[in-house]
Amino acid sequence: MTNAPDPDPGSGTAVDPVCGMLVDPSVALARNLHVRHDNRDFYFCARGCKLDFEEDPGHYLDPGYKPSM
Ligand SMILES: [Zn+2]
Repeated sequence: MTNAPDPDPGSGTAVDPVCGMLVDPSVALARNLHVRHDNRDFYFCARGCKLDFEEDPGHYLDPGYKPSM
C-alpha cells in the first residue's frame, strides 16, 4: 500500500476484515460479497474472504487479528 489515495471518509468505502483490502460496498453487494454479523455489515473483496469470515467471524473481529493478504 504505497501512494494509495486516502479513502474519502463517508464515501462508502469499507474494509475487508479478512485481508484488509478496501472494498466498495455497492460492488460487494452486487457480487454477493456481503455478510451481516452481530448487527454490523461486512464487505469482502472476494468469495474466499467471505467464506473464511463466515467460518469463524470471531477470529477476524478479534482486536489482535491483523488483516493480511
Ligand atoms: Zn479480501
